[in-house]
Amino acid sequence: MPTILKKKYGQNFLIDNNILNKISSLMPLKNLNVLEIGPGDGKLTDRIILKNPSRLTLIEIDSDLIEGLKYKYSKNKKIKIINADILKIKLHKKYEVVISNLPYNISSQILVKLSLLNLMPDTLILMFQKEFSQRLLEKKLNSINSLVKCFYEIKLNFNVSKNCFRPIPKVDSSVLTFKKIKERLITNKEVDEFILFKRNLFSNKRKSLKNILKKYDLKNTFDLNLRVENLKLEELVRLFKAVKFEISQQN
Ligand code: SAM
Repeated sequence: MPTILKKKYGQNFLIDNNILNKISSLMPLKNLNVLEIGPGDGKLTDRIILKNPSRLTLIEIDSDLIEGLKYKYSKNKKIKIINADILKIKLHKKYEVVISNLPYNISSQILVKLSLLNLMPDTLILMFQKEFSQRLLEKKLNSINSLVKCFYEIKLNFNVSKNCFRPIPKVDSSVLTFKKIKERLITNKEVDEFILFKRNLFSNKRKSLKNILKKYDLKNTFDLNLRVENLKLEELVRLFKAVKFEISQQN
């Protein structure tokens, strides 16, 4: 573990071998093109390598850690090490698996970025703070899970005690896997509009749909007495498409 840890980069390193093995065991043992975000000191990376990926890309923001990673993996031709901010870098390649013990301060933004990639990864294996993963797993829709569930099926694998990290964070964590669903519910073209639509709805989630969407003539297509928080995902998407249609008719 590096001697100087940078809080601004969410550097809570996983030190529990059992948990490190459990996370990597979620990866299929196949020739896959894999991306690890924030490899840190490479403890999880070492386990990923044992799964024999055809290619492993490591993206790490901290240039001090990059030196150590380059030294450690310089002889491994399958590994590509990139010193970059995952939120800024353009990801052009298709990664079959993305795996990460995420920096918690930006975990939501990273998840949204991964979900909206043109070449969507098939599987994400990600560790989040437990509270955030509960929001993702909630049966009721919320602003974040309503977007991610349009693309991925979300599953809880296991929880991880805060004592498994150094320095010890304030809260426990959870490891989730995301499997790409066969037919995504919204298209690439619709994503931006959908994000604005669901943001508006969830910031008024206690109001009835009738109130929020009074501008539109939807009463024949939808039960507008429902509240946003009681919608199912398919209903939310259907409502979005109906509103989009109404807007196109008005213009
Ligand atoms: N993989 C290591 C482990 O499991 O112990 C470290 C995980 S630590 C929670 C998060 C890692 O992500 C750190 O190495 C940190 O420097 C890196 N990181 C933080 N922000 C980043 C960003 N925007 N882009 C890429 N890496 C980032």
